Amino acid sequence: DIVTPMPESQAELAFEGALRPKSLAEFVGQSKVRAQLELLLQAASMQNRTPDHILLAGPPGLGKTTLAMIVAHESGRQLRMSSGPAIQHAGDLAALLSSLLPGEVLFIDEIHRMARSAEEMLYLAMEDFRIDIMVGKGAGATSIPLDLAPFTLVGATTRAGLLPNPLRDRFGFTAHLEFYSDGELEQVITRAAHMLELRIDSGSLAEIAGRSRGTPRIANRLLRRVRDYSLVHRSDGLEAVNAALKLYDVDERGLDRLDRAVLMTVLQRFDGGPVGLGTLAASVGEEAETIESVVEPFLVRVGLITRTPRGRVATRSAWEHFGLSPQAAGHS
Ligand code: ADP
Repeated sequence: DIVTPMPESQAELAFEGALRPKSLAEFVGQSKVRAQLELLLQAASMQNRTPDHILLAGPPGLGKTTLAMIVAHESGRQLRMSSGPAIQHAGDLAALLSSLLPGEVLFIDEIHRMARSAEEMLYLAMEDFRIDIMVGKGAGATSIPLDLAPFTLVGATTRAGLLPNPLRDRFGFTAHLEFYSDGELEQVITRAAHMLELRIDSGSLAEIAGRSRGTPRIANRLLRRVRDYSLVHRSDGLEAVNAALKLYDVDERGLDRLDRAVLMTVLQRFDGGPVGLGTLAASVGEEAETIESVVEPFLVRVGLITRTPRGRVATRSAWEHFGLSPQAAGHS
């Protein structure tokens, strides 16, 4: 499935790794975030200190991991990678933090999924480069302070709002990554096609870019599926693009199966809405967090749904997209 946030296989991983830009200059789009990061890194370098902790927020596939790698690379530091789900106990985090060498960049992906007890340990670590390790249980428990080497934490989350305030406040800078424009995605896959030595015309590249949900990871994957199709069916140009994307359930606006399931549910089961997030998630059989962090941001950005205090509402453009019209009067 093209939209799964995690790569399905080692091949996909290797593919993503090979295409990752290595410097801020090569990183396409997000010009605001790039300028903000550049300033932060430059100031730290001039003062010869570790850069402030950085939080990267945004839907999957927009370049958070890539930026973490660039932060380490541009400041000439080593990167250590972990993720929230891998930190299920404070002890996991203590082991990780105490093994850091001076100046290293620690990347924690999906930081909102870290254990509560670890979160509290992280507050002190981020602020004072120090942790308290609890030894023993109950009345006999004592805490042993441990000094850490100074480090830069780069956290990634699908939504900054999922983090508790005390954790969010300890980042010196929060970057909100935006969906990419079609033109930017075209740049991303033109570069990828070049690196993969694919011969593909610019019209096809533009079509793939326009159907990639504003997301570089998806654009790169669709490019690969189109390449597969061309190889197997000895077809190329727009014909191959259209056939390949149809096969993988990507429609003319780039909506995938889950996007369409969510929209159709709002339109047909709830007559255009409003419908609450929990009800919507249950109806399509997905986690509410996935709907809210992965599906909705794109549907809102392309104007297919709006979020109201009473729930999600389909727009006129959503009805039109499916060639449907509202049952009752009064909808728009
Ligand atoms: P995230 O961590 O936000 O899920 P990644 O950093 O793993 O996203 O990016 C996914 C893929 O998209 C990578 O293969 C990367 O090469 C590509 N990519 C992401 N952002 C950009 C960008 N701004 N320019 C070029 N390629 C990008």
